[in-house]
Order: sequence, then C-alpha cells, then structure tokens
Amino acid sequence: MSKTALITGSTSGIGLEIARCFARAGYKLIMNGLEENGPEIAKAIEKEFRTTVLFSSANMLFPEQIDEMVKGALQQLNTIDVLINNAGIQHVSPVEDFPIEKWNQIISINLTSAFLTTRLVWNQMKSQKFGRIINIASAHGLVASEFKSAYVAAKHGIVGFTKTIALEGAPYNITANALCPGYVKTPLVEKQIKDQARAHQISEREVENKIMLHKQAVKEFIPADLIANMCIMLSDEKSGTITGTAIPIDGGWNAQ
Ligand code: NAD
Repeated sequence: MSKTALITGSTSGIGLEIARCFARAGYKLIMNGLEENGPEIAKAIEKEFRTTVLFSSANMLFPEQIDEMVKGALQQLNTIDVLINNAGIQHVSPVEDFPIEKWNQIISINLTSAFLTTRLVWNQMKSQKFGRIINIASAHGLVASEFKSAYVAAKHGIVGFTKTIALEGAPYNITANALCPGYVKTPLVEKQIKDQARAHQISEREVENKIMLHKQAVKEFIPADLIANMCIMLSDEKSGTITGTAIPIDGGWNAQ
C-alpha cells in the first residue's frame, strides 16, 4: 500500500520539488502553501503522477489552521507516514532595526509550526510504529550570518527540536532528521538577494558571488532535487537507524 507524506510549504521552491519527488515515488500527498494557485499545482501533480494529492492552504502562523489541515488529512487518508516541515520565510535586517512582528512570524512559521504538526501526527505514527519526520532547517541551523537573527535562531531551534523528538520517537520507529541546505535558488532566495543588496549596499550579482556562494567551498547553488532525494532516502523503511541528525547539504560551508 502506498505511503502518505504531508509537506508544508510545498507549492513553491524546495517543498514543491520534494512533493514532485514523492509523487513520482508513488506516495499520496498532502500539499500546503500560500500560493494562490496552490490547488491547481496540487491537481497538476495528481494528474502527472497518478496519485492522490490533497491540498490545504493552512497558514502556519495559526495553530487552528494547522490542526484542521492535519486532522482533515488523517480523516481522508487514514495515515501520515512522512511529515516534512518545510514552510519557511526569511527577513534580512540589522538586529537593531529588526521588526518585532517579523521576528515573531519567523519563529512561528519556521519553528513553532513544526512542533504543532509533529504533535498532531505523533499518536498515529506511534500506534502504527512507523514515522519519518524531516525538518528542512538550513546551513543557518548550524552557523550564523549577520542580519538574519530571527532565521538563525529559528533554524538552530529546529535542529534542537529534531534531536529531542528523535529521542522520544526511537522506541516507536519514528525518526526525526533535519536537513541543512546551503543556498538553493528559489523565490525565497531571489527575495533575499534583493534584501541583502539593500542591506549591504551592493549589487545583486555581488550578493550572489561575494556573500552567498562565498561561504560555500563549492561555488554552486544546491539543486532542490538533491534535497528531495535525501528526503526520499530518509523516509525509507530501512532508514530507521538514521535519526537525530542535522545533515549539511551545503557545498562544504560547514567544513570551514
Ligand atoms: P519558497 O519561498 O520558494 O517556498 C516557501 C513555501 O512556504 C511556499 O510554498 C510558501 O507559500 C510557504 N509558506 C510561507 N509562509 C507560510 C505560511 N505562513 N503558511 C504556510 N505556508 C507558508 O522558499 P524555499 O527557498 O523553497 O524554502 C523552503 C524551506 O527551505 C524554508 O524553510 C527555508 O528556510 C529552507 N531553506 C531554503 C534555502 C534556500 O536557499 N532556498 C536554504 C536552506 C533552507
């Protein structure tokens, strides 16, 4: 019987690539995101890969919407075998000007929402003695960069959360791992390039070469399908002993 994966923030960028990869592998999906054409994106994947794809526009800022998304998915598909917490936003600003509202949003979407989805799938994963939780953290879950205080705090936080649930899940064959990618050229990064150019007062090309890829030993953006394939591998029945990790996929950024 095919397994089911819920991927937050999966109507754009990395999440969308993960959704496509899981659909190709025969998973049933619950897709989520704020893109207006989310339902059409989900329908197109359902048609292309001939699988079942549900879509939820739940906003990860709001616990009651997360509740509705997960409970609705469990009602319709009976199980959630793989949970991928991927939804995330960024804001770049010196700490003294960092808007409090942006700080709170980043902590809620990039960190707290993963706690909220996890607690809702937990009992069902526990009772079926199988669960794979993958948190899309970032290289910024392991190292910091200036002007990204909230993002770095949230991503370090999710690495800690991942370790904790790995320990709690171990007796029930629930694994939890964090992936820590370097720069992937998605809409989130396109926006950052503009913001960083403004913050550092340099051109967008200089941001790409001197700030982003400067930190990676391999001077290339990380392909989104590499991250998606890693998620497939971690979700395998045989991957039960890989847990509690924070895996860098960062062109050697963390090797320095
Ligand atoms: P993206 O902007 O292309 O996609 C983000 C997705 O999250 C979208 O579908 C968006 O609708 C959704 N989202 C945002 N706020 C939401 C909310 N409140 N509720 C529900 N959905 C929401 O970004 P991306 O680059 O694909 O980033 C995906 C994840 O990967 C993020 O957690 C990000 O921090 C992480 N990441 C990205 C990079 C990178 O270089 N792009 C590197 C490391 C980690």
